[in-house]
Amino acid sequence: MNTVTAAAQADLTGEFAARTSRSAEHYRQACACLPGGETRSVTLYQPYPVVLAEGHGAVVRDLDGNEYVDVLNNYTSLVHGHAFGPVLEAVAAALPNGTVFPAPHPAQVRLAEMVCDRYPAVQRVRFTNSGTEASLLALRIARAATGRRRIVAFTGAYHGGVPDIIDGGPDTVRVPYNDADQAVAVIDASVAAVFVEPFLGSAGVVPAAPGFLARIADRAREVGAVFVLDEVQALRNAPNGTHAALGLQPDLVLMGKIIGGGFPVGAVGGRTELMDLTSAARPGSLSCSGTFNGNVITMAAGAAALAALDGSAIAELNGRAHELGSRIEAAAARAGIPASVTRAGSIMHVHLADRAPTSAEQADAVPAAWESALHLALLLEGVYAAPRGMLDLSTAIGDDLLAHVAHGYASAFGRIRDLITSRTP
Ligand code: PMP
Repeated sequence: MNTVTAAAQADLTGEFAARTSRSAEHYRQACACLPGGETRSVTLYQPYPVVLAEGHGAVVRDLDGNEYVDVLNNYTSLVHGHAFGPVLEAVAAALPNGTVFPAPHPAQVRLAEMVCDRYPAVQRVRFTNSGTEASLLALRIARAATGRRRIVAFTGAYHGGVPDIIDGGPDTVRVPYNDADQAVAVIDASVAAVFVEPFLGSAGVVPAAPGFLARIADRAREVGAVFVLDEVQALRNAPNGTHAALGLQPDLVLMGKIIGGGFPVGAVGGRTELMDLTSAARPGSLSCSGTFNGNVITMAAGAAALAALDGSAIAELNGRAHELGSRIEAAAARAGIPASVTRAGSIMHVHLADRAPTSAEQADAVPAAWESALHLALLLEGVYAAPRGMLDLSTAIGDDLLAHVAHGYASAFGRIRDLITSRTP
């Protein structure tokens, strides 16, 4: 790293530290009881994370009183922003009557019916407390249905903290995303399940190449493997799910994030024959109890959030994201630094590279120091995006806040220009 880069970085860090002393103090305290000072890996960044104390609509405030326009929305889950009125009302109405019961509750059927009506691949649904648990359950269903163990997944894809997928193992085969030929070659009659995201979310919002997903789905069907489409992030992008928008018929769909209205949630939905393997009414069924599965608060909040996310709300979100992406690319061009924005619906990623990546490997090629400099510069401009460069919009963002975000990127690019242009990757 040359001196210009080091100096530019020190300036950013110094400015950040000068306005976030309470967060710094909190971080010291947190390190004494939480490993690394956090309880969620993605929330840690250098020199320490700002501590968010409250959020209203599209604006969040940290312990020192600094405000940020939130374009992360708890990693796509808060599709209506913070403290959304209909969610608050639904939760307030439910709370006095108890939050969770070791029994069925009408709120479960209400959300289940909404999900089944809305997403054509979902004939039956089972709720969990996270997308990770939904992945785990889908894997068990696929193995039980096929009597096979192998899984095919894609490099950079994130399906939650599922050991077989995240850590790999003897039963897991990884294939580069968008490499349909290689995928088709390894998906054979020994494979229980193929897990795929409609776009690589965590690994840089890399879109699927045209026809890629359909080829994978066809091949899985041909060899009797279960085709699992992970829509934990993607569900927000199309009124009937991305599978409907793309004409795909996954055997199982993983859901999460928006269907919980901001509360912990996950779900597996899909074909009745497969989902019925989890029916406790059947002898030898797959047991899948979770103490908080289908809790009343999540169910009520999820129903309120989904009801407010109709086709026109989604079209507006996606349109705004398109507009913001163009403004960010134009600002980068004006600042003379390489940047490209990839987008899936209302989820985007700003890559500090001339060309949009088509795989996780390409998305990973940007120096981490550039990404963290952009992230810190954005915080200084009052924009709260993911440290790795991802952002997404909520329905709470209006024209003024969108303009603030676009302006924030323009200023942040100016701040980091010498850092980026002093070196090529
Ligand atoms: N699948 C995808 C595509 C995700 O983006 C995530 C979370 N970011 C998960 C699964 C796991 O969900 P959760 O964090 O609720 O366990």
